[in-house]
Amino acid sequence: MQTKYICTHEHCSYPGSTRFEMSFKPESIMDDNNVATAFCPFCKKELMPAPALTMDCDPRTLADCSPMD
Ligand SMILES: [Zn+2]
Repeated sequence: MQTKYICTHEHCSYPGSTRFEMSFKPESIMDDNNVATAFCPFCKKELMPAPALTMDCDPRTLADCSPMD
């Protein structure tokens, strides 16, 4: 299973219809405190870890998430 990072910058110039995503192999990430910061090649903003589960979706940081009722 890979760890996925996504660009959450709302004005990202990524040409796709979805947000820019970048996946890392597990062996490239030692732990949460030893992750090299990844940056979006389009807008140069820091990539945010994508939630592995929908229930982890945080509308405060992920604009694609539906606000909680
Ligand atoms: Zn971007």
